[in-house]
Amino acid sequence: MGRGLAVLFASALVCAGSSSAQTPAGAPAPAPDGIEMLLDRVETLLQTGRAADFPSLVSTNFPAEDVEAFASGLFFPGIRRALVVERDRVPLTGALPGDGYRIVAEFFLETAERARFVTVLLDVRRPAGGAPDSWRITAAQAATSIDGLFRLRVNASRQFTARNLTITAEDLVLTLAEGSVFLVESESGITGLILFGSGVMRFAPGPATERGQMRIFAGSDTLAAPFDAAFVRLSPFDYEARVSVANLAPAPVNPRDLRRAQELLTRDGPKSFSLDLRELSNDVWYLLPSTGDFLAEVRTRRHGTLTYSRMGTQSEDITLFDRERRRTISLYPSAQRRALRGLSFNEDDQRDYDVIDYDIEANIQPQTEFLEGRTRLRLRMRNAGASSLTLRLANDLVVRGIVSPDYGRLLHLRVREQNSVIVNFPAGLPSDADITLLVSYAGRVTPQEVEDESLQAGEARPEDLLIIPPEPSLLLSTRSYWYPQNPIPDYATATLRITVPDGFTCVASGQPRSEHEATTLRDLLTIADGSAQVFLARDPLRYFAVVVSRFVRAAETTVKLAPGQGDPTGGAGISVAIDANPRQQGRGKALIDDVEAIMRFYAGLVGEAPYSSLTVALVESQLPGGHSPGYVAVLNNPVPAARLTWRNDPASFPGFPEFFLAHEIAHQWWGQAVGWRNYHEQWLSEGFAQYFAALYARHARGERAFVDMLRQFRRWAVAESEEGPISLGSRLGHLRGQPRVFRALVYNKSAAVLHMLRRLVGDEHFFAGVRRFYGAQKYRKAGTDDLRAAFEEVSGRPLERFFDQWIYGDQVPRLRYSSSFGGGTVHVRFEQAGGALFDVPVTVTILYADGRTQDEVVAVTEPRVEWSIATDRPVKQVQINRDYAAIAIFERAP
Ligand SMILES: [Zn+2]
Repeated sequence: MGRGLAVLFASALVCAGSSSAQTPAGAPAPAPDGIEMLLDRVETLLQTGRAADFPSLVSTNFPAEDVEAFASGLFFPGIRRALVVERDRVPLTGALPGDGYRIVAEFFLETAERARFVTVLLDVRRPAGGAPDSWRITAAQAATSIDGLFRLRVNASRQFTARNLTITAEDLVLTLAEGSVFLVESESGITGLILFGSGVMRFAPGPATERGQMRIFAGSDTLAAPFDAAFVRLSPFDYEARVSVANLAPAPVNPRDLRRAQELLTRDGPKSFSLDLRELSNDVWYLLPSTGDFLAEVRTRRHGTLTYSRMGTQSEDITLFDRERRRTISLYPSAQRRALRGLSFNEDDQRDYDVIDYDIEANIQPQTEFLEGRTRLRLRMRNAGASSLTLRLANDLVVRGIVSPDYGRLLHLRVREQNSVIVNFPAGLPSDADITLLVSYAGRVTPQEVEDESLQAGEARPEDLLIIPPEPSLLLSTRSYWYPQNPIPDYATATLRITVPDGFTCVASGQPRSEHEATTLRDLLTIADGSAQVFLARDPLRYFAVVVSRFVRAAETTVKLAPGQGDPTGGAGISVAIDANPRQQGRGKALIDDVEAIMRFYAGLVGEAPYSSLTVALVESQLPGGHSPGYVAVLNNPVPAARLTWRNDPASFPGFPEFFLAHEIAHQWWGQAVGWRNYHEQWLSEGFAQYFAALYARHARGERAFVDMLRQFRRWAVAESEEGPISLGSRLGHLRGQPRVFRALVYNKSAAVLHMLRRLVGDEHFFAGVRRFYGAQKYRKAGTDDLRAAFEEVSGRPLERFFDQWIYGDQVPRLRYSSSFGGGTVHVRFEQAGGALFDVPVTVTILYADGRTQDEVVAVTEPRVEWSIATDRPVKQVQINRDYAAIAIFERAP
């Protein structure tokens, strides 16, 4: 359901006189139970519809017309159930201690058909030292409300026979050739249908890339899937436009069909447009789709249940999803959006707020994967008037409370089946408002694989796996949602205080605070006993991670950058440490020189290092791999007995054993300091990390190692390009469940594309472009057009076609060539034979009879290119693409 609480809005205020409350503090004061009795009486009156008795609970100072206005907003016909929950209580200024409070209360009111939440501010007083039943309401104000929660039901009195019924949404037609139909209704009208019978789902995605994915999924540009049942949700306003109602004929209700329809609603209904109200209501409450929004759960015979949805709140508003296999088949902007802004978008445009700073405390039990946490977020609203915001937090972490110093204890709701929490405020928030939230939570966490580069276990044969079990480690990172965070990641600073059991230590995003730094009051107030390890991320990060294991410090050093290079420590030097599982200590020690050399090399290329420290965490694992949050590089080190069967992987470079280390450290610059603005742009992070690793291979091991990597880049790019364009990002290989496709294209092909870009614009312009791009995008989320702009500026060369073909296209150029030599000239002719026109720099190597060789780069940027060069001695042979730097298929012309 995403962020779609379009139904949230502030309701009218009814304010009685001026009542000033002090700033609410965190915890409620000790309960004088007279107030609870008063709220119970309000609840009883609401539940029994006795609005006329409400004035008996209010003070005589509360003007009668205001009482009536307030009550009329709450008492409405048909309330079946009312719940009044006190959220917060602070002393009223001007009242004698213990005799006056401002209460924040949630009123949950439900009728047979719908429900609403109202957040109410109540001032209550009693005469000095009065009896428990002498509390009266002196002022009341309905601050915000959530309306539009509906019950859904199958209309049990109507069944239809359908013949060639069609239901349409963009790029989708459901046709029920023959069958039965039931309507799903709410108080606001028809909001769904249930279809049984013989039908066909036709889905024809608009964008070419999505048609390519459809060919992978279904073998054809258009999916045509027979189905026998479907559940549809739509806005009541769209019913007649989307459904060919003339193809429905009333039929007698068949009780068995009706029961099936009801079961289907119970099973499939709550998966979308549904809120989880936990302690407030056990019923399933639904939102109505907004006009234009649409959802269909279609039980196809061949592909299982496929979910089509069109959701206006999403940047890419059309999706086709396979819930069982958790696979996204299609995801793209609707035609109207493509016309408006093309295929690219910046996910930040959807962000409701910026997080400025986090204070994350966590007590982590790695053996039970249990976490108890408390996080303070300082955030700034981007738009005026919102009265709610959404936090991302793992579904299994139970929120114990959300408190704001300005608004007291806050109501929070969970969206069903999603890792998100909606926080409701008792007032509309002004734009640019700075809000502090303190969120307490606890529960099981789901650690993630060190999976940036790791293999799926299924790719290794079981008999090759472990004899010695690896030392367990627990990594909580981007996918674990282990602390409440912005659903759309943004850059923020943080302090992390992590407590782990005896015998364990952790490595986390941020510079470890040294023992010499003073313990602060905050440290003493952490949920643990003050023995927390503290990490300071003073430079902004997109996300924070922690890895817990039995670590020992294997090595440490301080890396001082060369003069003139940007140094985040101001000359003190970057603290580098290697923490390793005890069995890996020796290997950890041996790595320190490589780590230092890699960091110096990258700082030299970019002109600076982004973060003030780096800890390499060496953990044991079955398979190689790595993961690189800011300030940290986690490196899987396979235990000795694990023999690997992954030689044939895009990320396996036997001639370059430092590969993973080099790739992961490069992520400090690419991926962390410079982020990417949505999944289409992940190649910027992986491509640069991979290319920097290749440059380091040349630096440390020579040209041979570099060319070996280029050869592998080219091989994988040619082999896998038909799986989709680089811009498909994490969706590459996703449909077939083959992560190596992602590595082949988003790592290797991207790196090769950067190398071709370099050969096209020349070394000087290339490295100037890298620095310009890095400088402009540091602590931001970048896109391909930002990269293009940087290189166009420094090179003065238009690069639109280059990026269109290599990043957004999935073809591999076919180059037909012929060469001749003699008479003091070498002549080469290229012809682009693949249809699309590419920019491909190609190395032409001249082998002379005396054994010397000469490499020349020919920019093939036209349909036909004739190139010649004068030679001063006998030529033996001419070779094309000997260095594998061009991603192309070469054919010698006949
Ligand atoms: Zn990577």
